[in-house]
Amino acid sequence: MNILRNIEEIRDFRASQLRSPLGFVPTMGNLHEGHLSLVRLAGRENRTVVVSVYVNPTQFNDPEDLASYPRTWEKDRMLLESLEVDSVFLPTDEVMYPKGYSITINPGAVAARWEGEHRPGHFEGVCSVVSKLLDIVQPDVAYFGEKDYQQLQVIRAMVGDLNLPVTIRCGPTIRETDGLALSSRNSLLSPDERARAPRLKQALDRLRAAIGADQDAAAALSEERSTLAAAGFQVDYLALVDGASLEPLTAPEEGARLLVAASIGVVRLIDNCAL
Ligand code: AMP
Repeated sequence: MNILRNIEEIRDFRASQLRSPLGFVPTMGNLHEGHLSLVRLAGRENRTVVVSVYVNPTQFNDPEDLASYPRTWEKDRMLLESLEVDSVFLPTDEVMYPKGYSITINPGAVAARWEGEHRPGHFEGVCSVVSKLLDIVQPDVAYFGEKDYQQLQVIRAMVGDLNLPVTIRCGPTIRETDGLALSSRNSLLSPDERARAPRLKQALDRLRAAIGADQDAAAALSEERSTLAAAGFQVDYLALVDGASLEPLTAPEEGARLLVAASIGVVRLIDNCAL
């Protein structure tokens, strides 16, 4: 497995070793089965797989969140080697944001609500780094998880609006057996918080059943917000939305999605499901 730390090394790899198509999986490391499922999907659909491991500072709106983000490169390297990844792009901040760097990408309408509202600047950072990574790696196909559903839609919009020459593919959310969506932040939960965390998915499941059975969506959403608050969650949002525009819906429609973000203690979790 090649470990490529700067842009010239990626360009050399592309020039000398590339077998098309190239599948690319951007990550922030601390790899878990959610990431690995995307890497395997990329491996099945491409002849070359590149994974990036980079904790992008510009998408963190909270300095403490950035400081506490788990970094586990040696373990990540072993996992990626076991999956026969061809190359890992492992840049430093200096490689990604050299002195004088100033251009950023406005993430547009899909980013306005939900995560965009609660994490100002987050999607500007995501779009800027993903656009740079796509330009550096130049993949045929790039892979993102449905776990970060709004991120996936924002990236699809960016790729469409800016005519970026890449296909975006998504993989399903991988969960623990109790339903908690795998996330690098789960390791920051205390045992008591970890025991309560699956209630997020349980709220989504109850809502899907209630709204599917034609119960009033607003009333069902309000009830589940209260249930989560009573279980000690601080709920940022729990919403029924259009699956493409992410505009809120008052009643279910084709492709609708449920989105949730809530904190237990200092750990903020997000989840979503199709209706
Ligand atoms: P991250 O390292 O958190 O930036 O995630 C890298 C990629 O893995 C993103 O496309 C995420 O959506 C995806 N991902 C994270 N968690 C999961 C999960 N539980 N299931 C599927 N994909 C995931």
